[in-house]
Amino acid sequence: MNGEKRRILVTSALPYANGAIHIGHLVEYIQTDIWVRFQKLCGHECYYVCADDTHGTPVMLRAEQEGIPPETLIERMHAEHLRDFGDFLIDFDNYYSTNSEENRRLAQDIYLRLKAAGLIEVRTIEQLYDPVKEMFLPDRYIKGECPRCHAPDQYGDACESCGATYNPTELLHPVSVISGARPVKRASEHHFFLLSRCRDFLEDWIRRGYRGDSPLQPEAMNKLEEWFAAGLKDWDISRDAPYFGFEIPGAPGKYLYVWLDAPVGYMASFLNLCRREGLDFDAFWKPDGGTELYHFIGKDILYFHALFWPAMLHFSGYRTPSRLFVHGFLTVNGQKMSKSRGTFITARTYLEHLRPEFLRYYFAAKLSDRIEDLDLNLDDFMARINSDLIGKYLNIASRSAGFITKTFGGRLGDLACTEDRAVVTACQEAAEELAALYEQRRYGEAVRRIMELADRANAYINEHEPWKLVKKEDRQARAQEVCTTALNLFRLLTLYLKPILPGIAAEVETFLDIPPLRWQDSRALLAGTTIRPYRHLARRIEAAQLQALLADSREDLDAQQSEHTRTRHGQAQQPRSAPPAEPIAETISIDDFAKIDLRVARIVAAEDVPGADKLLRLTLDLGGETRNVFAGIKSKYQPEELVGRYTVMVANLAPRKMRFGVSEGMVLAAGPGGKDLWLIQPEEGAQPGMRVK
Ligand SMILES: [Zn+2]
Repeated sequence: MNGEKRRILVTSALPYANGAIHIGHLVEYIQTDIWVRFQKLCGHECYYVCADDTHGTPVMLRAEQEGIPPETLIERMHAEHLRDFGDFLIDFDNYYSTNSEENRRLAQDIYLRLKAAGLIEVRTIEQLYDPVKEMFLPDRYIKGECPRCHAPDQYGDACESCGATYNPTELLHPVSVISGARPVKRASEHHFFLLSRCRDFLEDWIRRGYRGDSPLQPEAMNKLEEWFAAGLKDWDISRDAPYFGFEIPGAPGKYLYVWLDAPVGYMASFLNLCRREGLDFDAFWKPDGGTELYHFIGKDILYFHALFWPAMLHFSGYRTPSRLFVHGFLTVNGQKMSKSRGTFITARTYLEHLRPEFLRYYFAAKLSDRIEDLDLNLDDFMARINSDLIGKYLNIASRSAGFITKTFGGRLGDLACTEDRAVVTACQEAAEELAALYEQRRYGEAVRRIMELADRANAYINEHEPWKLVKKEDRQARAQEVCTTALNLFRLLTLYLKPILPGIAAEVETFLDIPPLRWQDSRALLAGTTIRPYRHLARRIEAAQLQALLADSREDLDAQQSEHTRTRHGQAQQPRSAPPAEPIAETISIDDFAKIDLRVARIVAAEDVPGADKLLRLTLDLGGETRNVFAGIKSKYQPEELVGRYTVMVANLAPRKMRFGVSEGMVLAAGPGGKDLWLIQPEEGAQPGMRVK
């Protein structure tokens, strides 16, 4: 490394504001955070920015289902995401939102510049339109029969049964997932970014990059070559109202597609930071600012970041990224994360059981600069934390610090002996090699090297047996030297692990009573100073903790599944024999409860559903509004005995498309099922539409 101070801007992909952060996401944020922390330790000027990706149809519809404005939903998700990242010690310099004024201006301005460069074209296309919901339907919101293999219930873009991809207008018997209505074809004007015209620039860029090096890993290069060979398609960057996003300037009712404004969110988050801290935005985004720009991304969004994004930047007058750092996906125990196996683990559930640094360490131990999937094997995870982190690294301090405190009043000795010096020097000399490994994101190799050094430190302690020396009157000074040497090694290993274990490193700095370690401190020694008493910094992982983590992750699923079966069949499906009393569910807040809109409903019609054994179709009056609900209560009730009765329904449950039609809510019933089923009935006098609270 040369001593030049670099100016670096780093981003991670923006998480979508529609769900919780899980350990699969964390592979990227932990990987990025380690790299950024390393750059900062080296004294470089490095900024790490990110934001919630907030726009698009899923956020819009979810907010609608919850009966809240999208702004309220994305504010809540932002707070949750920020808390999860903070607790995993992900140290963003700014964590912002794409729904910001900075982003609106930048995205609209980039659109206008691309238009001025002749790279935007308006074309009329035909799309499926939901006449009930009055909106154009994204591919994933249309289901129907596969035009090739005739499998039912396939999405609008691809068939999961035969693998065919097609245009949603080719789907047979299409229905809108949102309303259940049959969509109609409708023409609309769309704005296209002419990626096909950017080919020369892009071919040059992926080979020569921003400054002469390829910005891509070899595996990513291969992918790009495939895409070039297949031909670059122009990109539809507009969506019709209603849409949650930014309007296209000069095109009322047209919005920028979420994928256009999402990467601009990197710039907007940084602009927000610049305004707050007086930094020079242009130095990082205008060409030739002498700075570096890196995007850490998953392999699934390479197309956007290696084609659309550099083309958008270049043709609107900005610089292009120095490099893209692409990583693979997380598997758990060798398989895709699975809700039923309990391996779909959210950040929050993990934190309820284990320290964040354990996962940081394990991911680091498995990460490389290649685009490979990474496996979290839970047995291996426990073994590595217990043997490496606790058994090797922290053990060095717990074997040596006690003597310094008890026998020498906390005072460290000297490193006078040649042998001690040599051991410490060897550890110091690893700094350069480790720095190169961190810089190249070869963290797994760095961790292996650090653990070799920890092995040597423990061997040194074993050889000199300070616990024996300390008992001999004439050998006490030597005991102090040996423990001082051991703590010097411990300090160096702490520095080397600091990008990965920032919290533990801070505790070690307090214990050694030293200022925060920087990379250059690898050259210094610790001697003659006083340390504080050592407390254990981490506890071993017990198998029971992992079992509890999996069980909790499965429980989340049980809750979701029973809701799912209830909405589909009107009630939870239960085993034949009466099950033991269901345990009381997890405590919720009054706010959680308030989200459930329960209403008194009058059953105005009830009828059998042809082809369904358990269902009745109910028409419910909510005081002016009627709802169609499929309820799994046929085992107990005859349709005619229900008409005119009052009950209670969940009125704001997301409508669910069923084989027989759309169910627009759920009626409440108690009991295990079969004949043991009792429809909830309000006391006489309650009127349809009244809210139950
Ligand atoms: Zn098919």
